[in-house]
Parts: sequence; C-alpha cells; structure tokens
Amino acid sequence: MTEYAFEPCPPATVAVAGSDKRFPVRRIFCVGRNYAAHAREMGKDPNREPPFFFTKPADAVINSDQTIPYPSLTDNLHHEVELVVAIGTGGSNIPVSAAKAHIWGYGVGIDLTRRDVQEEAKRLSRPWDWSKAFDNSAPCGPLVQAAEIGHPTHGRIWLGVNGQLRQQGNLSEMIWSVPDIVSLCSESVELKPGDLIYTGTPSGVGRLAPGDSVRAGIENLGEIAITIGARGAHKTL
Ligand code: MN
Repeated sequence: MTEYAFEPCPPATVAVAGSDKRFPVRRIFCVGRNYAAHAREMGKDPNREPPFFFTKPADAVINSDQTIPYPSLTDNLHHEVELVVAIGTGGSNIPVSAAKAHIWGYGVGIDLTRRDVQEEAKRLSRPWDWSKAFDNSAPCGPLVQAAEIGHPTHGRIWLGVNGQLRQQGNLSEMIWSVPDIVSLCSESVELKPGDLIYTGTPSGVGRLAPGDSVRAGIENLGEIAITIGARGAHKTL
C-alpha cells in the first residue's frame, strides 16, 4: 500500500440529481467558442473553425447553492452558462458515431471568466489560464444521467442575475455538437471517467458583482444557483 507524505485530498465531486451518490471529477475541459452569436459578441468570425479547448483544475468545481468569494485579480468577472458533458467511459480517438456511449450524463455549468485578465492575455499572446482556471471558476449543477434523459440536442439555455435575464439561447445553436466535441477532445487527450466538458456559451455574457445572485438552467435538464460573495482576502486590483 502506498504511503503518502500526507493525506491526499479527496476528489472534487458534483451532486447527482435525485441520488446521494457524487460524481468524482477528474479534469475539466472547456470549449472556447461554440455559439455563433457569442463568437460575434466577442468580435470573432462565427464560421465553423475547429473548436479549441482550455482547461480548469478539477477542484475549481463548485456545486449549486454555494456562495463563492469574488475572485482576485479582476474587476470584470463574467458569467458564461454552458451545457456540461460528464464522461463516464474513457477513450482516445473516439469516433463521432460512438461518442454518446462515453457520456455518463449532463449538467448546467457556469464558466466564470476574469474577462479583463483574458483580454490582456489575448492582447499579449499569453496563456488563458489565469483568466479561466482560478479557484471556484467552474460552478456545476446536479448531473443527470443520460440513461434517464437521453442526449439533449435542443432546449432553452439561459442565465439570470438578480432575477434579470442576461443570457438566452438554444442548444440547437451549438456550432459543434456534443458528439463532435467529445470526439475532437479525445483526439487531443485520452478522456477518462470523471472528466467534465463545458461546451461553450450563448450570447449575453456579462459582468458579475459582489452580492449578485446567479441562476441558470437548461430546459428539461436542470438548474444551478450561486451567489457571488464579497471580495476575498487576497490581492485585488
Ligand atoms: Mn466558456
């Protein structure tokens, strides 16, 4: 038996809807741009370029009904509501036609983004990590098994802040489908059980402030609610 220098951290987990079981999170992959209207609002051509991926640490995941501190380093924290794909069966070079068999379930996630840090990274051709992969940056609502709901291809996806609708779209507007994304991601890395893939956001991304109450949902799938707390004790701008 391996003896560790200290007790390893338990894995980050996400709630499973209607169950006491938890989904253990291995890694978090995110698609950069996957809805034409959001690509346009970010000043990009929405033509069907191959998707690109970035990552967040597994322990950036935050379950629904939590309050998270307003993150450090930013004065422009943004919300991006996204369909989250939860991988149950790993694989490399998964064909599009076989991708659904690797999916355990789905959830509603929010890709929190330090937009000002991201804009600087883009301008200076630096990595996106510090704009995307910070503590508590990956809220994810309860996961629902594909065995129960199938594989959603359409349905309203929305996010509101303090009761005001900010983002609204439909899963049918995704440029790259979920099977496309699973297949493409598996060409770059060997997917493993427990991996989450955030599949991109519709238009309407915007600023969050301390005290904001955020609620988001996907039709026939579920919802997530988080509250943005006060700025943390760490350095701010
Ligand atoms: Mn995103």
